[in-house]
Parts: sequence; structure tokens; C-alpha cells
Amino acid sequence: MDRTYRKNDLVTVTIEDIGTDGEGIGKVDGFTLFVKDAVVGDVAQVRITKAKKQYAYARLEKLLTVSPFRTEPKCPCHRQCGGCQIQALDYKKQLEYKQNKVRNHLIRIGGFEPELIDRVMEPILGMEEPYRYRNKAQYPVGTHRDGRVVTGFYAGRTHNIISNTECYLGVEENREILEILLAHMEEYHIPAYDEETGRGQVRHILIRKGFFTGEIMVCVVLNGKYGEKEYISHQAQLLAKLALIKGMTSVSASINTEKTNVIMGKEIHTLWGSPTIHDVIHVRDMKQTGYPCTGQQLDFAISPLSFYQVNPIQTEKLYSLALEYAGLTGRETVWDLYCGIGTISLFLASGAGQVCGVEIVPQAIEDAKENARRNGIHNARFFVGKAEEVLPAFYEGKQEEVSVSDGNGSEDLRHPDVIVVDPPRKGCDGVCLDTILRMQPSRIVYVSCDSATLARDLRILCDGGYEVKRVRAVDQFAHTVHVETVCLLSNRKSKPDTHVKLSLSMDDYYRIKEEGKNNQ
Ligand code: SAH
Repeated sequence: MDRTYRKNDLVTVTIEDIGTDGEGIGKVDGFTLFVKDAVVGDVAQVRITKAKKQYAYARLEKLLTVSPFRTEPKCPCHRQCGGCQIQALDYKKQLEYKQNKVRNHLIRIGGFEPELIDRVMEPILGMEEPYRYRNKAQYPVGTHRDGRVVTGFYAGRTHNIISNTECYLGVEENREILEILLAHMEEYHIPAYDEETGRGQVRHILIRKGFFTGEIMVCVVLNGKYGEKEYISHQAQLLAKLALIKGMTSVSASINTEKTNVIMGKEIHTLWGSPTIHDVIHVRDMKQTGYPCTGQQLDFAISPLSFYQVNPIQTEKLYSLALEYAGLTGRETVWDLYCGIGTISLFLASGAGQVCGVEIVPQAIEDAKENARRNGIHNARFFVGKAEEVLPAFYEGKQEEVSVSDGNGSEDLRHPDVIVVDPPRKGCDGVCLDTILRMQPSRIVYVSCDSATLARDLRILCDGGYEVKRVRAVDQFAHTVHVETVCLLSNRKSKPDTHVKLSLSMDDYYRIKEEGKNNQ
């Protein structure tokens, strides 16, 4: 290295790569620079903000040559806002970046051979329209220096609110709803919550829209007992205004008095309309293979506290893939771990003998049971608890359960055909992975929202006797660095896995299902 660099130095650099947080990466004299807001292909003058021995963080000062991959971002706040890290990068290039990110994690963290990954990895499924795709937004509420109540998004890695009611990732209705709520707070002098002091009333505003049904939910997170404080005393006027918005179906308050980063409180009070909204998801046959659980649509009830995929259009692709990878023939016993409101479970149920879903949030499990009833599905059961506790309890016979589809249910549940997991970003708990390995399913379908933890967990499963058969990324989160991945693993000890090639006609499928029923 020829020289070292210090804070505030100005450096000219060519950006050659994109980092895991979306930052541009370039090298000068063997010294690596991580430059926020720089796009791969840019030549830029940058100012060093933090210097280490061999690398430094820097800020974009001046673009000298504009990258051909730069595009005009729609949102004027995209640089300050922590939500979109790569909005200035051309969408095609974003997809390429995400495909590489998953590949690199599998190779570097998972220790898989590049040749294997290149053989099993299919091209990323991108979005047709990369804006206005989110069905859910959670806006923090705070007080501006000038005393106004504001809402918007946190600046990257901080809790400073960037005032913005027009996010182009969310639905158009968000703006009107936020403006009604802010005006109401101004009019009645309702204070925003202050994270430092723990005082004030309104913490967050959650808005969700069912894309298919058009139903809208608003949930205001309050720092106080429902009914006691000023917020509620003028509720009738507020509700009347919200009710006029097309699609408004549910308005509720969530009470969160904890000094925590967790947004929602556990207590929910419906103030107007219904406690849930509904939405419909369709899954399609991705490859016209004639798999049984394709071409269906199901209807889901969603509560304020329940997880529901945020990008409904891409979710249809994600679920279709997960079902295709599960390779069901109508007879299988399937576990769906981290099942949320039972979305994947219920699609699986239509093509399997029986399905058991496990989820930690009790309200989501209530929704899952209601969703099974609504859709007339009788071969799915749901359990509240941690996957790493419920699964071992079944395996070790501590949970007394009888199968819904046949007499030897408990044995089927101990050794299922397929296990689907869809954990949060931190991935699966070690006990959960260990129990999966002891259960020895023929196939594991891993749906992941963090390819680093996916790679770590796949390594454990592969060391335990599984092999990676298929991997495909799905872009659920355009303009952010996040990417969803679906992965199929098969048990090396199982009989040769024929399901990938198996092509059942719909007639075959119904025949097998009927036989299954008659054997009960
Ligand atoms: N498969 C669902 C939900 C996926 S999100 C869907 O597609 O909609 C991950 C879910 O895991 C969330 O619902 C979360 O509440 C749940 N969860 C988090 N930790 C868990 C754990 N240890 N055991 C079971 N569920 C958990």
C-alpha cells in the first residue's frame, strides 16, 4: 500500500462493486473504500468519513463519470431514507446484484462449491413494476424541531424521522391516511411519542392494504391505555374521516407502553369496522408440470399483529416455487415451520395428506385456523410456539396428537415427507435444524429472507445428510438490498428423488386424493 487515508480526505475512485448494504465499493492503491450512494460504474470524488488501516467509509461528493447503471430515483428522499439503499441503481442491475449476493453467500458462508451453485441456481424472478409494490407500511410519528408532528421514515441507521408521507414503494392511499391522522393530532394537540422520555401518545401508524380485495387496515400504536387518553376522546371525528377512504375496513389501536424498538403492542382494540382485513393469493403452475397444488386461490384473514408477505405479486411467485419444490402428490405429511397466518400451509394442504403449521405469534395462529375454515381445508392443523420447541416435543412424543388423515399420524408426524421452513432474518434455531435432521424428511424447502443465514443453515443441513437440489431468488423488495430465496434440499438417504421429474395430470391428482380419502 502506498499511503493511508484519513478522515475528511478527498479521493477519486472508480466504483467496481456493490456491498451487502448497497454501498459502492472501489479501490485506490489497494485501499478499499465503501461509498454510500455511489453506484457501480461511477467514477466519483468521495470524502472519507471513517478510516481504518486497510479500508474506509466515504460519502459521495461529486460524480465525475456517471455510471451507465445509474437511473433517476423517483423518491426525493432516497438518499437520506434508510428504506431504499439502491434506488439509484437500474432495476435490471439490482436483480443481477441480488442473484450474485445469494450466490456469494452460498459459496462464502455456506462453503458450497461454485460449480454446484451454478448448476442448481435458477435465474432470479424479478418484478414487472418495481414501485408501489408494498401492501404494508409502518410509519414512526415524532415531533419536528419546530414543534410540528411529523411522520415518515427513519434515516439510515438512526431513529431520526425524515418527514415524508409519499413513499413510492407503498400504496397511494397511505398519504391521505397519514395526513388525516397528522391533522387530527394537530387539531386536538395530541403529542407524538418521544423515544427519549417515553412520554407522548402516538408512536407509529400501521397501514395495510389487501391488493386483491382493496380492503384497508389502519392501526395506530399508542403509548397509553386505550380509552383514557386524549387520542381517543375525539375519536368519532377521526373515524368518520378515515371511513370515507375507499376500501377502509378496519381501524384499530395497539397499546405499546414499553420503551422498546418493537413497534406493535400486544393489546389491540378495534375502533371501527372489522378486526381483520382479507386478501386473496393465487398460485400458479410455474412450469406447467401438472403438480397438484397449483392454479389455486385462497382467501386469508389478516390481523394487525400477524405477519403477511409485503409484496403480494411476488409472493404468488414465491409460494408457487415453494409448492413446486415441495413436489406433493396428495399423500404427504408436511410440516410448515414459521407459518404466520398459514398461507404456505394451506396451499400445501390442498396437495398433501396432512399439514402441521407452527408459529410463535398466537394471533397469527388464530388467523391460520380461521383461514383453514374459510377455505374449507380440513387437513391442516396449527400450533402456537417456537419451532425449536414444538418440533422436538412432537419428535420426542411429548405432544400427544393424532393424525387428521390416518391412524398412524404420530409416526407420520415424527417422520414427515416434507418440511418447509420460512424463518425470520436470523434463520433457524440450532435445535430446530437438529430436530429436522433427526426427523429425516425426504425433502426440505427453505424459504429465506436473508441469504447469509440461509447459507449458514444449509451448511448444517447438508453436513447432516442433505443435498442442495434447486435454488431460486425472488425479488420481493425492489430498491432495497433484501432478497428472498427458495431452496430445495433432498435427503441423500432417501430413495432416488423422482418428484422433480414427476408430472401428474390433474386427473391423476384427484384420483390419488380420492384414494387417500377412501383409505381413512
Ligand atoms: N410463512 C409465513 C410467515 C413467514 S415470516 C408467510 O409466508 O407468510 C416468519 C414468521 O416466523 C413470522 O410469522 C414470525 O412471527 C414467526 N416466528 C419467528 N420466530 C419464530 C420461532 N422461533 N418459531 C416459530 N415461528 C417464529
